[in-house]
Amino acid sequence: MSLDTLSAMRRALEAGETTAVALTEQALAAAEAKADLNAFLHLDPTQARAAAEAADARRQAGEGTALTGIPLAVKDIFCSEGDPTTAASRMLANWRAPYDATAVARLKDAGAVLLGKLNLDEFAMGASGENSAFGPTLNPWDRTRVPGGSSSGSAAAVAAGIVPATLGTDTGGSIRQPAAFCGLTGLKPTYGRVSRWGMIAFASSLDQGGALAWSAEDVAEVFSVIGGHDPRDATSAPGTVAPAGALLSAPVAGLTLGVPEAFFEAVDSALQGPLAEARAQFEALGVRLKAIELPFAGDAVPAYYVLAPAEASTNLSRYDGVRFGHRCENPVDLDDLYRRSRGEGFGPEVKRRILTGTYALSVGYYDAYYRQAQRVRRRILESFTEAFQSVDALFLPTTPTTAFKLGEKRNDPIALYEEDRFTIPANLAGLPALSLPVGFSNGLPVGGQLLAPHFEEGRILSLAHAFQQVTDHHQQRPTAGGVA
Ligand code: GLN
Repeated sequence: MSLDTLSAMRRALEAGETTAVALTEQALAAAEAKADLNAFLHLDPTQARAAAEAADARRQAGEGTALTGIPLAVKDIFCSEGDPTTAASRMLANWRAPYDATAVARLKDAGAVLLGKLNLDEFAMGASGENSAFGPTLNPWDRTRVPGGSSSGSAAAVAAGIVPATLGTDTGGSIRQPAAFCGLTGLKPTYGRVSRWGMIAFASSLDQGGALAWSAEDVAEVFSVIGGHDPRDATSAPGTVAPAGALLSAPVAGLTLGVPEAFFEAVDSALQGPLAEARAQFEALGVRLKAIELPFAGDAVPAYYVLAPAEASTNLSRYDGVRFGHRCENPVDLDDLYRRSRGEGFGPEVKRRILTGTYALSVGYYDAYYRQAQRVRRRILESFTEAFQSVDALFLPTTPTTAFKLGEKRNDPIALYEEDRFTIPANLAGLPALSLPVGFSNGLPVGGQLLAPHFEEGRILSLAHAFQQVTDHHQQRPTAGGVA
């Protein structure tokens, strides 16, 4: 059996049973063999092989870390020095990043072998992976279905067994929803935990980098390396992140898990069985379940779709063909240059966000939309704060359905926005949240979500880890042809 988890690779490297070079060749071969998934936008075998050799030398010298020699890959929204960094947009099709994002630099410093850059929805706007200017990514469990988004390639590359872990970003659900659709564990840390330096901005008050892998154990390993204060990001939270072992070992027996019943009733019936079993499983681990109410259920999506586009419209103003990005041919004047460069460079969903965001921020509408949405955001945070007075963590569904068909929601942006109704609240409140596999429905993975108070990533990682000690959903793999 080929090694496909980070912990198994690490053990094999430490035992001298394999080398970084061998693991890297295996990953490159898998990426080639599974190119039809369109998970990678850019693969760099030369750079990967050089990093693998350096990693083997480092381990031989006794200076390895947990990640030394492990093949990984990052969403193409993280800058990596000298590499194409496109955010899956025509706007940045020819741009190469002049520096490493902090998260990327920390992976490199740890000795990880970076294989390349992963596909995503353009500028991380989407929930299916179909908004990439470079074509959709397919779900390895069923190639007629979406892998989720926007971290589509980050999920597909792990689920397909190409790399054992990846970096993604999560503004409204983009790590957790693809993790759920692809049978993976995905962590969106507390806002500010992972530096946004070098992460191309979508909505700066919501964007957060994190990791996807098969298990909580492997996610913790990556999170402990990329997390922690960075003076170059003004919103970076102070303090460091504990080592993986400490993040996983908080006792879970005796904890109280809040379960908002209304969220469970709102999911597709196909997901209800696995989610109910997961609740029973947590009880079997000594966790007490407590029914609670989160009274904002319907308000999070509308508030998000005012705030995120508003921030996006300002963040994306820099792509004007002068300061950054695609420049049109033969402009007749400055106005024409801006109009055509932006018109040609951005895809339809990005344009929709810029239009709504600009509208929400305009004179006369600012109070009605933007300020109102900010109030809703505050109320959502207050309901969570109140909930956490009587529970230690929350358990809810990650998604309303399992992975849907490619094309199914393509012409219905609102249906796609609704995909994130269970994930968006954590972003609005800045809370850490994790999706973990809780079972299958018609051969497709089902995800459950754990949320904790700010900076308590260790609590949800420990809960997920304990759950994964007594379940095997995270050990299931797609068969070569698709559905298991
Ligand atoms: N699907 C949501 C959106 O399109 C969330 C995206 C994200 O988390 N990056 O905005």
